[in-house]
Amino acid sequence: MTMAASVSVTRQRVELPDNVSKAELTAKVGEVVKKSSWWDMYGVDWCIITFFYLLLIPAFILMRSQHWAPFILGAIFMGLTHSTIATKVGHQAVHNSLCASKRWSKFWQYFFMEICGTFSVDMAHNIHIKVHHPYTNIIGFGDSSTFRVPILPRYIYMFVSPLLIPVFTPLFVMYSLLGNWIELIRCTTFIMAGLAVNAYLLVNVSGLSLQTAIFTMMTARAVLSIPYIHVNIFQHIGLPMYSKENHPKRLYLMSTGVLNLPRNPILDFCFGHSIISCHVEHHLFPDLSDNMCLKIKPIVRKFLTRNSLPYNEATYMNRLKFFIQRYEELMVKLPPITEFIGIQ
Ligand SMILES: [Zn+2]
Repeated sequence: MTMAASVSVTRQRVELPDNVSKAELTAKVGEVVKKSSWWDMYGVDWCIITFFYLLLIPAFILMRSQHWAPFILGAIFMGLTHSTIATKVGHQAVHNSLCASKRWSKFWQYFFMEICGTFSVDMAHNIHIKVHHPYTNIIGFGDSSTFRVPILPRYIYMFVSPLLIPVFTPLFVMYSLLGNWIELIRCTTFIMAGLAVNAYLLVNVSGLSLQTAIFTMMTARAVLSIPYIHVNIFQHIGLPMYSKENHPKRLYLMSTGVLNLPRNPILDFCFGHSIISCHVEHHLFPDLSDNMCLKIKPIVRKFLTRNSLPYNEATYMNRLKFFIQRYEELMVKLPPITEFIGIQ
């Protein structure tokens, strides 16, 4: 079922069968997980991580060029790597879906999310794991949007403001941690260390001045900021929302309140399947890695459609047109949210 034609904005209950058990779906998915190899569970995603870190080698070398074309190509490579690490990998890290070891999961969270991604692990836990996932589309608990600025005109919000995310994110994290001094010092140290290493490589490998290095770094990190904000709002906003006191069970909540976009080579790599084409699967089974979400997708889709539950899908362009046309209704008049949500 395609959601675009049937979305409700807010506070509209949907008719759902009440006899479908998530336990049945969990058992089917559990069977697949049990039979899956390390390669399926974690290996594929680690190959993608390795590929993008290796992409930094040609990136820094290309940026040594005096010509614009190779320089820009190098900056794009660096920006794509940053998007992959900060969004796809940071998101998986905070869900502990990069490896089986709890101790290593903790390490990867700080490495990928704070040092490389300039976002706070604690904030990601508080906002994404403790609120966004358990209270998806519950009014008053925020939607999925990283930020909403109702005073901004639609085209500025959707196509210009996202470009400030790389600069805005670490500043916002530091501001949000004011008062929580130990956490602020630790997180700021990690974020600054990541930025310093990136700037150091740009100065010493690519031969840029410090000023140019910082400007290039922040510009390159914005290479996918616009689709990031788009995807961020496309997959929950405009779908049915519920009150905290009166909301359906988890299976129905995720079936009605989450939407999948089609696969896309760049976004699959840089944002991950659990954020793009398997967002429904991710909300139902948040501990699974991107590759496993892709693997269980046919089972989830079949289960939901067979039980007459929505399986929301829409194209990127379809959602883009929908949000531009109904920006006021979707992004300005929604229940107010005050939280900043750093990842999808
Ligand atoms: Zn998540």
